[in-house]
Amino acid sequence: MLSKAVLDGLNEQIRNEFYSGYLYLSMAAFCEGKDLPGAAHWLRLQQAEEFSHAMKLFEYVVDRHEQPTMLAIEQPPADFASLLDVFDKTLEHERRVTESINQLYALTMRENDYATQVMLQEFVKEQVEEEKNAQQILAQVRAVGASSSAIFFIDRHLGKRE
Ligand code: MG
Repeated sequence: MLSKAVLDGLNEQIRNEFYSGYLYLSMAAFCEGKDLPGAAHWLRLQQAEEFSHAMKLFEYVVDRHEQPTMLAIEQPPADFASLLDVFDKTLEHERRVTESINQLYALTMRENDYATQVMLQEFVKEQVEEEKNAQQILAQVRAVGASSSAIFFIDRHLGKRE
């Protein structure tokens, strides 16, 4: 049985993962408008991944015989200064997600909820990947500055994500 505190924390994390997907979809929409289809493709895949994280948590709550609550999802920003700004905000966002996962993990430790800890370990590991990916793309976009031909090549590279 899940404690009330852990159930509340899981519901919030479900909302956070959906918000992440929503944010990336908003970024994809921005990139489409700026003729950056590769970045938009990368961000769409990122959105799908975030929604799958939300659904993993949803299914876990169901498996524990509790009812997940669909909390309100905030409207994400729609305007970005540039591709650099998009990936700057991506890294900043992933660091916040890491913090929320860590807080939830700490809560399960205080509550002696071993099953939820084991389930969350995948999320802890995933955040290392998420931060690394965002960091690498940000470094590349930062390195080329405003060179539009270099941005074109980065965009093509991002478009190859599978
Ligand atoms: Mg996620």
